[in-house]
Amino acid sequence: MNDSTKWLFAFEEGDGKDKKLLGGKGANLCEMTQIGLNVPPGFVISTEACLAYLDTADRSLPDGVMEQVREQMAALEQKTGKGFGDPERPLLVSVRSGSAMSMPGMMDTILNLGLNTETLQGEIRATGDARFGYDAYRRFIQLFGKVALGVPDELFDKEFEAVKHAAEVKQDVDLSAADLKEISTRFLKVVEEYTGKPFPEDPMTQLEIAVKAVFNSWMGKRAVDYRRQFNITPDMANGTAVNVVTMVFGNRGDDSATGVGFTRNPGDGENKLFGEYLINAQGEDVVAGIRTPKPLDRLKVEMPQMAEELAELRSKLEAHYCEVQDFEFTIERGVLYCLQTRNGKMNAQAMVRTSVEMEKEGLISKERALLRIDPMSLEQMLFPRLDPGAKAEAVAQGLPASPGAASGVAVFDADRAEQLGRDLGQKVILVREETKPEDIHGFFASQGILTSRGGKTSHAAVVARGMGKPCVAGAEGISVDVSRREALVGDTSFKEGDTITIDGTSGRVYLGAIPTVEPDFTPELSTLLAWADEIARLKVLANADTPDDARSARKYGAVGIGLARTERMFNAVDRLPVVIEMIVAETPEQRQAALDALLPLQRKDFRELFEVMAPHPVTIRLLDPPIHEFLPDEHQLEQDIGDLQALARSTRGMTALAGAMGLLHTPDETRRDLDVLRRQVDAILVEEAIVKKEAMLKKVRALHETNPMLGHRGVRLGISFPEIYQMQIRAILEAAAECAKAGIEVQPQIKVPQVCTVEELKRVKTYVDDIHAQVQAQYGHPVNYKFGTMVEVVRACMRAESLAEEAEFFSFGTNDLTQATFSFSREDAENKFLPLYNQSHILQDNPFEVLDVKGVGKLMQLAVEWGRAMRPDLHVGICGEHGGHPASIDFCDGAGLDYVSCSGPRVPVARLAAAHAALKRRG
Ligand code: PEP
Ligand code: MG
Repeated sequence: MNDSTKWLFAFEEGDGKDKKLLGGKGANLCEMTQIGLNVPPGFVISTEACLAYLDTADRSLPDGVMEQVREQMAALEQKTGKGFGDPERPLLVSVRSGSAMSMPGMMDTILNLGLNTETLQGEIRATGDARFGYDAYRRFIQLFGKVALGVPDELFDKEFEAVKHAAEVKQDVDLSAADLKEISTRFLKVVEEYTGKPFPEDPMTQLEIAVKAVFNSWMGKRAVDYRRQFNITPDMANGTAVNVVTMVFGNRGDDSATGVGFTRNPGDGENKLFGEYLINAQGEDVVAGIRTPKPLDRLKVEMPQMAEELAELRSKLEAHYCEVQDFEFTIERGVLYCLQTRNGKMNAQAMVRTSVEMEKEGLISKERALLRIDPMSLEQMLFPRLDPGAKAEAVAQGLPASPGAASGVAVFDADRAEQLGRDLGQKVILVREETKPEDIHGFFASQGILTSRGGKTSHAAVVARGMGKPCVAGAEGISVDVSRREALVGDTSFKEGDTITIDGTSGRVYLGAIPTVEPDFTPELSTLLAWADEIARLKVLANADTPDDARSARKYGAVGIGLARTERMFNAVDRLPVVIEMIVAETPEQRQAALDALLPLQRKDFRELFEVMAPHPVTIRLLDPPIHEFLPDEHQLEQDIGDLQALARSTRGMTALAGAMGLLHTPDETRRDLDVLRRQVDAILVEEAIVKKEAMLKKVRALHETNPMLGHRGVRLGISFPEIYQMQIRAILEAAAECAKAGIEVQPQIKVPQVCTVEELKRVKTYVDDIHAQVQAQYGHPVNYKFGTMVEVVRACMRAESLAEEAEFFSFGTNDLTQATFSFSREDAENKFLPLYNQSHILQDNPFEVLDVKGVGKLMQLAVEWGRAMRPDLHVGICGEHGGHPASIDFCDGAGLDYVSCSGPRVPVARLAAAHAALKRRG
């Protein structure tokens, strides 16, 4: 790049599709200008200029940038008939950031740039409005001071409040020209005192400083945190552009206004212009929530002509972008300007509804309707809502700014939210008067957000919606006192640490924790997911261990169970003692007795699963974990025995003492005799308990393994103690026979965990064959089933061809396979070194959440290829946690798997992700 590099693009010339170069906002300003919308004239300084600037050692603008800025400013002067720095007809501009990815409020904007002591007077003369002039000036000094010169906002706020107090006014609009002049003077002093230099007067110098400040904000903490949180990588957005736009003013009197609009309602997706405006105000007033704005419906009454033009703007935007738009507008003296537009950020419910409706309106295709929704966002729709049966009185009502309900302890600042929420794992609700971009870390750590000021398009509302967190905004009945960490609500109050509940769907606020219930599928979500199922190649099954899990998995649209972990059935209170008896049995007869007791219980478990899932497949995994997991803890046993022995000693002592006192037979003595007897009985019971515990301790020690996860578990256990697997196989086949006899269509699938050689499978298959024959004879009814294996150890992948001789299906257990491939134990990795590995980019992702396609994925691909070489119709799926993760689902589609299986609430996510994967493969 050299002097001839083109760094700047006028709105008339920039390529509206090139968001990487011009940023989303800049590209849209160019595009809007070029499709004939009324956009104030301006230009974009490219993201390339930003990167080149950030690359310089001394943070200086690359050669040519300021020359091109001067050229473009001259062109703006021509277009507007005003002069930059001209005291008679001053040209004022805004300087705004904008990267390729929308990062609402994350970077900085400066308004009214070009004002100085001289141009201010010119502006006042030109408009004949001193109040307006000083208002613009004080805003500029504060924004420029904060953004470009790093002066803390509080210093300005203090002066502002002091003047407001002295003038005895409540609302900013009631401040007089003289008050605002006083504020400007104080602000100039604040800047000079803080920076040690006078406020810059020369407009071109102001512009240069502002451009650099916007570029710097790309590397500011807020922006960096935001990019990290939303995984915005440099190939998605690198650097910010700077948009320099001629100022238009919504605060030029009662024929002026400013507002933000959504072409459809971002809260529920309703096909109706949605938004808010303020008469006689600047845009920042709406976004910052300083005054509570009016709904756009009111505009029809207050400015009917403008309302019509706005409706026209809305149709033009949607027709052009074929997407819901979030736009900003200003009305200056009866002229409507569109200042920016971008794709609207909406919650999942609104995304789904608009997808379905826009498809029906012919605005978008089915494919687009599916692709525009991030699969993970569907989890939001499954967020809890307040139990309608719960009797609770709301203490305050605000605006329903982001749906969903949440309870948590109240905290009054973002740092505290982070401490309690992120560091201590508590559920917190962030309570603020209004939020600012610097509160972002508090949002991440909170369950929900409550503000006492601001509208549905305030910062709190927009950010919470983007994150899918509940938010109640503008609950004006609440008065927040941050210094006392308390909020007053009428004649009651809540303090930091008190539990409150907010309902972002209704806008209500409650004291205490109110129970919540799971939401139902909306008809639009059902429609959308039905489209997804038509397109997807992968089937989506669920991991479910109980009939309740299975029922909810069906509700979520699972077409079968891909993994039922039988050990979870053993943990029920009524089962555990029998399971323990089975494990500690000294003889085969004792073990068989325990297994006989377990058989009917397991048969019932399986039958219920089959019934709930019929006619879909139910894949049951034979017992997997090391058996000592069911036994008491060794150290606890040692401690119990110690305690019992101490008790035995004191009981014996008391008995001896009572004996030594002689057994005389007065009534008193009789009582004492009885007491002695009771103690003797107690002593016997204690001794017996000691014997039992000691026996258990012996067994536990005998079963102790140095590394149980790699020890006697899974199929190894099934081969050492065949009776256990035989009981489970019998229970599965008998349950299937019962169902089949009752006319219920069942597809039982038996899978064997931890397999590493086909010999293991062959051994278990002999049990299955024998029992299958017995069960068919016993029930006089054919029983169909499939036999397969988990593939979760590296050797199983390597021996896939041979395993497929016996296995009709493979089920990748990528939880274990990931551990085995990395030789990481999940618990140790996640608690100790993985966060560091991720932060320092040694590993990009947590491989236990996002499938490691390069390593684990490679093994899977080989296993699929080799397995199918032996058995072409080998059915293959995944049941590790990765089965519910969109990127991993995409990989599974590419690798030719037949299904993914994941937890119930992830099923809708997986269905949509499976459709995305199929669409991607179709190109
Ligand atoms: C797996 O290893 O991926 C699996 C599903 O089994 P589990 O998580 O029960 O070990
Ligand atoms: Mg496993």
